[in-house]
Amino acid sequence: MCTYFIIENEDSDNSRIKIGFSRAPNDRIIQLQTGNSRKLAIMGWVETADQSHEKQLHKKYEKYRLNGEWFSIEPWNVLDELKTESTSSFICVQANVGEFLGCDNDAVPEYIGPWEWLDTEIDEFCPQCGWGGGVHYNSALGLENCLRCGYPIFNNL
Ligand SMILES: [Zn+2]
Repeated sequence: MCTYFIIENEDSDNSRIKIGFSRAPNDRIIQLQTGNSRKLAIMGWVETADQSHEKQLHKKYEKYRLNGEWFSIEPWNVLDELKTESTSSFICVQANVGEFLGCDNDAVPEYIGPWEWLDTEIDEFCPQCGWGGGVHYNSALGLENCLRCGYPIFNNL
């Protein structure tokens, strides 16, 4: 079970975010997309035992409530909530994570980050499984591994 965050982001100036609760957020988004002409995307989710986390967030963002479970909150609010629950939270990782974007003005190479909506730090969310629980430094290999999936994390993502 989880608290999930779904964004309706066809129009980025007028997006809204749903804070909901589901056993299977990927099934839920298919249900929600049916009958909604705007494109929906899962931003992330927090694994929970029950609905209390969702209820707590609905109360916290009450003044931003548009209707039902839809809120006029921003991606950084979602990121804050995911970070707060880091050991049980996941971001939805972009398909093209790690793709080379080009070099910035200081000739530093830039790559597409894991999250579509905001930049995240490399040690905050795993670029493979999206988990927010952290990394373990592997001294034998001289790199960091995601504590959940073992993905080797390099500092160029
Ligand atoms: Zn991972």
